Amino acid sequence: MSLKEKVIKKTPMFVQSSAISLFNTYQYKVRHGGEYKKFREYYAKVEGFTASQLDKEVKKKQKSFFKYVKRKSAWYNKLNTRDLTKNVPLEKQDIINDFDRIKTIKEKNGIVSLTGGTTGASMKVVYTKKDMQERFAILDHFRAQHGYRLGKKTAWFSGKNLISENDIQNNICSHYDFINKIRFYSTFHINQDSFHVYWQSLVKFQPEFIVGFPSSVYELCEIADSLGLQLLTPVKVFFPTAETVLPKYREVIERVLGCQLVDQYASSEGAPFILECTHGRLHIHPLTGVFEVVDEHLQPAQSGELLVTSYTTHGTPLIRYRIGDRITLADTQDTCTCGSIFPLVKSIEGRTSDYILSPTHGKVNLGNISNSTKNIAGIIQFQVIQKELERVNVLVVAGPAFVAKEQSKFKKNLAERFGPQLEIHLQVVNEIPKEKSGKFRFVKNSLKI
Ligand SMILES: [Zn+2]
Repeated sequence: MSLKEKVIKKTPMFVQSSAISLFNTYQYKVRHGGEYKKFREYYAKVEGFTASQLDKEVKKKQKSFFKYVKRKSAWYNKLNTRDLTKNVPLEKQDIINDFDRIKTIKEKNGIVSLTGGTTGASMKVVYTKKDMQERFAILDHFRAQHGYRLGKKTAWFSGKNLISENDIQNNICSHYDFINKIRFYSTFHINQDSFHVYWQSLVKFQPEFIVGFPSSVYELCEIADSLGLQLLTPVKVFFPTAETVLPKYREVIERVLGCQLVDQYASSEGAPFILECTHGRLHIHPLTGVFEVVDEHLQPAQSGELLVTSYTTHGTPLIRYRIGDRITLADTQDTCTCGSIFPLVKSIEGRTSDYILSPTHGKVNLGNISNSTKNIAGIIQFQVIQKELERVNVLVVAGPAFVAKEQSKFKKNLAERFGPQLEIHLQVVNEIPKEKSGKFRFVKNSLKI
């Protein structure tokens, strides 16, 4: 917990809400000041570009970014600007160890962003204010296409740890920014016991939009679903952030909240953007950076690991950054009915480290594992933990319908995916702890390989 979070927790609720309103309004001013407006106009305009106009603009943006980086970053002074693929990928470890050589500005002159790494190591990047304004212009333009603007009632589920157990006992699970009409919900306290506190709050608040971690919103919806509940005032759109959207999330959330789920890909260290269009397809935004999809030998592939180069990272440049996510590109001939010529992505598969290693079946990925609850009654949430090659622990939070027969069906489904040599130890628990970031991880793999 940060000092700010500690201080806020100790003050009365109305003071807390005022402080949060003011802090958000201040942050809003930084993010939406300066060149923000210019960028909003720019991102609206470029959507109408022809292929040759777009191509020219991409080259212009890349050239100016590379020129700046080569001049200002000690790490990149030998950057090959003619052929991007000749440069060695940037690893997370590089950002942690050589931050001072990579960054181009002093921390006090920019905006610092902290991100939790997969291994628990915390990583830091610094943005220029201008880049932050550009990033918010891109996001706001995208959200506006789906009907959102600041001031519309929004429920926000992200990793701000501002609520205590005591608050939950007093039926409080959120803070309200009354200036901007955003209700910030704690993602740390969602479980079967606290469900009604959250549900009542949502029913009363009647948000038009929801933004935040899909696993948290899914957990609430899954419990609601098991109780036969649906929101009577439907939410218009849910914008997930920071985590991979599993097919099951989409199905349950859309049904329970009566909303549309509109996905996006970005990251707190500054990745370029993949955004879902109004026709439900994912498009790479070519003016935000380069997405290289590569196989294990770093050769171009249609499906594989991502190396990202991001034009909004002047503060801490990311060039061929190994971000640790996997995607699958659509066929090059594939076009979208929305009319956009921006390249299409077939699917975002999520973190490369989210898999279980089976002695007989190799790497079993997240999507495959999450499918194993199909036709099983009563599972609200589960997590697979692997510490040894021969064994996994499966924690399950379940409702009364998860009877012995369903348990053995679930075990059988998992065994089909993991193969006969991986011992499955199933344990029903009351709650599965969230990560420090407030996110939930389906698969935790701590094998040293
Ligand atoms: Zn489209």
